[in-house]
Amino acid sequence: MTGHADEFHPSTAVVALGRPDPEPDGALNPPIVLSSTFRGSGAPEPGERVYARYANPTWEPLESAIAALEGTEVPGLAFASGMAAVSAALSLTPIGGVAVVPSASYNGTIGLARELAAEGALELREVDPLDVDATARALDGADLIWLESPTNPMLDVVDLPALTALARERGATVVVDNTFSTPLRQRPLGAGADVVVHSATKFIAGHSDVLLGLAVTRDQDLRARLAKRRTLQGGIPGPFEAWLALRGLRTMALRLDRAEETTGELARRLAEHPAISRVRYPGLPSDPGHDRARAQLDGFGAVVSVELGGGAEAADAFVGALRLFTPATSLGGVESLVERRRRHSAEPVEVPESLVRLSIGIEHVEDLWADLERALAAVSEIRPGTGHAVE
Ligand SMILES: *Cc1c(COP(=O)(O)O)cnc(C)c1O
Repeated sequence: MTGHADEFHPSTAVVALGRPDPEPDGALNPPIVLSSTFRGSGAPEPGERVYARYANPTWEPLESAIAALEGTEVPGLAFASGMAAVSAALSLTPIGGVAVVPSASYNGTIGLARELAAEGALELREVDPLDVDATARALDGADLIWLESPTNPMLDVVDLPALTALARERGATVVVDNTFSTPLRQRPLGAGADVVVHSATKFIAGHSDVLLGLAVTRDQDLRARLAKRRTLQGGIPGPFEAWLALRGLRTMALRLDRAEETTGELARRLAEHPAISRVRYPGLPSDPGHDRARAQLDGFGAVVSVELGGGAEAADAFVGALRLFTPATSLGGVESLVERRRRHSAEPVEVPESLVRLSIGIEHVEDLWADLERALAAVSEIRPGTGHAVE
């Protein structure tokens, strides 16, 4: 069935959406269509697929499913990666137009915005979205605002309803990167956003085995513009990747429920640990974003960031001492990953040097805690700047 997510609880919708229409002996799952072109004769009718860079039947169940989950019947668009979707959405800023983008956005997003600004393609106004007044000022005359919440990797919770309303009053297009929350925890279109983008590489596909991006909008005209970008720039997903992402989506509710519960527990324990100077997780009552998160989100997610009292050296040693957590970039998979984000030169300078991002998977909470506790014990004597244990 292709039906509407609103008929069902979202944890049912992820299982039921994007199925082939029932027919006797029919397959339960959509087929993978490996064809670069489609039969046609005469002038193509509107909606005809024509060629597999324009449309592929394997994308369609995923595109209808993500749209229903985000609360619209306008089909979403699948892209080759999250960044291909980000790129298409950012290009909704007209040439020479003004884009408002948080400095501490996902590093690919802010990197692309800076690149476009340096080339003169757009005027970039960098903001701290936690400062609503300053962001409101930056919105004067703006064409587009980019928002991400909770942010990667700082886990800041942005006041999406307030900023969306301010942007709409000024006629700016609002794009929200919903990668961290997924539509199971946050539905920005309902709060007035024009476009939602996802790195489906993360929680949606969920198994660290595929790169894929998604964009969703309620507006047919915006969808047509994004689709044109995808077709002409060629950032299309392969059929197998689209199929894998839909396969991953089937278990997203289960995976997220489990990982989120574990993350809450680990965040509470980490906050008590003497080697940790700060835990960033909106689910902690002490977190500055907690009240906003409670108002805006249906769950606090499965990423937690910690800062180590011993600085970058302690953070690197901590990552190196973990055994069950895999040191790797990315997040949202079934396996727990860990990374000191500033090891990347492209990471925004707003991110503290000692910040370690933990993406919590679906392993048993006590195994994960035992690994964290042991690795923290190994580094708890390291003091900032020395790189050595204090004797
Ligand atoms: C990973 C990520 C992206 C980029 O997605 P890719 O699939 O790696 O291209 C964009 N936004 C956020 C928040 C991400 O975490």
